[in-house]
Amino acid sequence: MSQEANPFESLQSQIDEAATYLDIGDDVIERLKYPERVLETNLTIERDDGTLERFKAFRSQFNGDRGPYKGGIRYHPQVSRDEVRALSGWMTYKTAIVDIPLGGGKGGIILDPDDYSESELERLTRSFAKELRPMIGEDRDVPAPDVNTGQREMNWIKDTYETLENTTEPGVITGKALDSGGSEGRVEATGRSTVIAAREAFDYLDKDLEGATVAVQGYGNAGWIAAKLIDEMGATVVAASDSSGGIYNPDGFDPVAAKDHKNETGSVVGYEESEEEITNDEVLTLDVDLLIPAALENAVDEDLAADVSADVISEAANGPLTPAADEVLKEKDVFVIPDILANAGGVTVSYFEWVQNRQRFYWSEERVNEELETVIVDAFDALVEAYEENDLDNPRTAAYVVAIQRVADAFAEAGSWP
Ligand code: GLU
Repeated sequence: MSQEANPFESLQSQIDEAATYLDIGDDVIERLKYPERVLETNLTIERDDGTLERFKAFRSQFNGDRGPYKGGIRYHPQVSRDEVRALSGWMTYKTAIVDIPLGGGKGGIILDPDDYSESELERLTRSFAKELRPMIGEDRDVPAPDVNTGQREMNWIKDTYETLENTTEPGVITGKALDSGGSEGRVEATGRSTVIAAREAFDYLDKDLEGATVAVQGYGNAGWIAAKLIDEMGATVVAASDSSGGIYNPDGFDPVAAKDHKNETGSVVGYEESEEEITNDEVLTLDVDLLIPAALENAVDEDLAADVSADVISEAANGPLTPAADEVLKEKDVFVIPDILANAGGVTVSYFEWVQNRQRFYWSEERVNEELETVIVDAFDALVEAYEENDLDNPRTAAYVVAIQRVADAFAEAGSWP
């Protein structure tokens, strides 16, 4: 995995690339390339052994022109100011391409959660929630889960916020457990949009998804659900990987059983239906019909891109391809469904959760999935329209053309304020 590409620079080059097809002034584009503000804070908590430890944390509010800032909070040793700034920008254009009335934000704490107990993580999460309190709220900024955070952390943040504010405001955060005001279908949503987008792309390219071979890099929430759903659609999952390595069986395997194996042992590696153990990079370069990168940024750099053999890529992760990799894949005619559309199911169902929280009226899973389907199909159609109209050779640029225009329109309509 390349560590070279700075994700914030990747975001800015993606915006610059799309801007060449837009009739928007450079001064406005400049504004759309930077976050409105970034909180950097140091959280000091007591460890279980009584010693203190300091953690650096960030929250970037990138753009609020189309609604409250929206985006997850990740816990990872690789979190940095630039990573959070990039991810908050990607959220801005993600909410815009799927046309939900929200802006973009992102947060993170630098740590490896595996090194801490549950009560230490609770103290740290509540400490972060206390810092975030003045800047979040259902009409201001609405965090959500991201890498290594989930319902548990969201429930703690909601409880801390509501306790300090002396109110009930479940819409301050999304991705909560059902009993804490979460939505049906939220856990599956990222993987679900990844495969809906893949299905639409196969249809657009006149390719058959039935029997298509699929490799999934990263077997966390997004990756394994995508594997399960694509298998249900008739495709064959032949490879999967996590941070410990990859598994491969040219005849395919049961993605749910592979997940059960990971739950029991901590990794997909060693799963009995695997014919061969392969590396993460080998998973990314297998000759398959569909590749789903579902781990972290920069999984495919320029060098690895030269070896990618998939026909279609659906990005479940945020920023898995570097801009240089994008260039190589464009030359090779690989159809890349960009992260801001492919994985937008997560934030879309977060939006549904927020709507339900505000109305105090909850939907069935069937309704959530139906509405999600409509949002992703409409976004894919908007991408295709821009792709064809501008005679583009990269679907990512098409997505940014649509998304940037929507944000710029909201900004222009708001007028200026001294
Ligand atoms: N972390 C997810 C993402 O990157 C979901 C964000 C949200 O639900 O607000 O899109």
